[in-house]
Amino acid sequence: MSLPVIPFSRPFRSANESRNLDAVLASGHVHGDGPFTESATERLQGISGAQNVLLTSSCTHALEMTSLLLGLTVGDEVILPSFTFPSAATAIALTGAVPVFVDIDAASGNIDPSLIEAAITSRTKALSIVHYGGVAVDMDEIIRISDEHGLPFVEDNAHALGAMWKGLHLGTLGSLGTQSFHDTKNVHSGEGGALLINDEALLERAEIIREKGTDRSRFLRGQVDKYTWNDIGSSYLMSELNAAVLDSQLSEFDTIQGLRHAVWNRYSSELLEWSEDVGVRRMFVDSDRKHTAHVFYLVMPDHDQQTALLAHLRKHGIVGTFHYIPLDSSPAGLRLGRTPYACASSLDFSRRLVRLPLWAGLSESDVTRVIEAVKSFRPLAGTKG
Ligand SMILES: *Cc1c(COP(=O)(O)O)cnc(C)c1O
Repeated sequence: MSLPVIPFSRPFRSANESRNLDAVLASGHVHGDGPFTESATERLQGISGAQNVLLTSSCTHALEMTSLLLGLTVGDEVILPSFTFPSAATAIALTGAVPVFVDIDAASGNIDPSLIEAAITSRTKALSIVHYGGVAVDMDEIIRISDEHGLPFVEDNAHALGAMWKGLHLGTLGSLGTQSFHDTKNVHSGEGGALLINDEALLERAEIIREKGTDRSRFLRGQVDKYTWNDIGSSYLMSELNAAVLDSQLSEFDTIQGLRHAVWNRYSSELLEWSEDVGVRRMFVDSDRKHTAHVFYLVMPDHDQQTALLAHLRKHGIVGTFHYIPLDSSPAGLRLGRTPYACASSLDFSRRLVRLPLWAGLSESDVTRVIEAVKSFRPLAGTKG
């Protein structure tokens, strides 16, 4: 009974982190946009398939940059899923624009494209989507709606670095994409993020907004002989210390992904029979999508069983978790957002979801422990359905 607790997530340790950090500290260039930023940016271009990448201090900041680049202002509206991380909504609300919440497709946890058009008004300026768990949204529909209504879209790609939809890289399909390198993500730098600029027309302004509203990036490239205040912005760039860790992590991207997929694949196959026996749904990935093994989740028959499974895992020394609390009914969502139609699937998904421990380096014996613990859970009498 004294087995160590299996945490939900553990940041990956890559080989060159300490050495890279020492090199930064010894170099005298510790602020942003140094050699590790350059190297990590190149690696990220390769992995993400994006031509234009700017490292940022977080995904939240990258999302704020998207709001500024899209020129959002008071009274504008942006459509996004109710089931996502608060940063996507707060980045919109910061500009005085209104986040408009749309329900999800319960099969994937992603925004339900068939509900988007009913939420569009004359004030709608953009769409913001998230590829939940690193599994692509139905992009055929998102691209059609974007084209037909002339609405740019942002991909919050925090879960989906390296993921694909019909052979295309997620994060490169919208005008802008964002990444997170928070230490709960597949690849991390402690805190960190990136902005993928797919609409070339936004690139020059993105550089300025990231550098406190100045043209310092052009100055550093020798394109202007002094730099000055050009626009609004903030200090959105990543410190070279974080970039030193990120560069090391990205150099082991394939290893990290291989380890995560091995855990994911065991959960998926070894819980198949149990899940069918007890009426639990396992996370599902369509064959036209390549996912990232960012999460593995179970959808329990009801909320009581979510609570019961989480308690059962805790008793076995295993930390499982639920996920987002729907934004439409959150305190800020009620005050700052608009919800044209009730987001019933988002609430239901949130109240039934259980995520299992998943990280690169979770040992085979610990994966076995998690699987055995889950399989020893029997649904509560009388609550199935
Ligand atoms: C983690 C996460 C964020 C926020 O990322 P930070 O880098 O911590 O700001 C935003 N969106 C999604 C979907 C996330 O998972």
